[in-house]
Amino acid sequence: MLLGVVGLILVLCAVLVYSLLRPLVASGDPDATVILARCVSCGYEGPLSVQAGRSDGAQVCPKCRERAAYKLWECRNCGAQFLPAPGPGRVACPSCRSVDVGSAKPRPDATAPPPK
Ligand SMILES: [Zn+2]
Ligand SMILES: [Zn+2]
Repeated sequence: MLLGVVGLILVLCAVLVYSLLRPLVASGDPDATVILARCVSCGYEGPLSVQAGRSDGAQVCPKCRERAAYKLWECRNCGAQFLPAPGPGRVACPSCRSVDVGSAKPRPDATAPPPK
């Protein structure tokens, strides 16, 4: 009987702690990341807030609301920013063919424009 009461209290404590911690985690939005994107529909180019792990594929453009914004890549060799050609194979720089490429990083002070 006593064991049951202790167990119940422990469960209640766990639920309480969980409900207290959850809003903190949600408000921090650790899953969001800012990428540099280019919209193939309207030509918008700039920071875009996306869910972590979802930066590949088409994103909703903050300017024209079309799902036509793609993550920009940057060449570490010549500094060119480009959208990789679709299809299999390694992403290479269209300017110098270097494969030393990666996601283009927005400036540290850049923030995605608020949705309208
Ligand atoms: Zn657009
Ligand atoms: Zn290059």
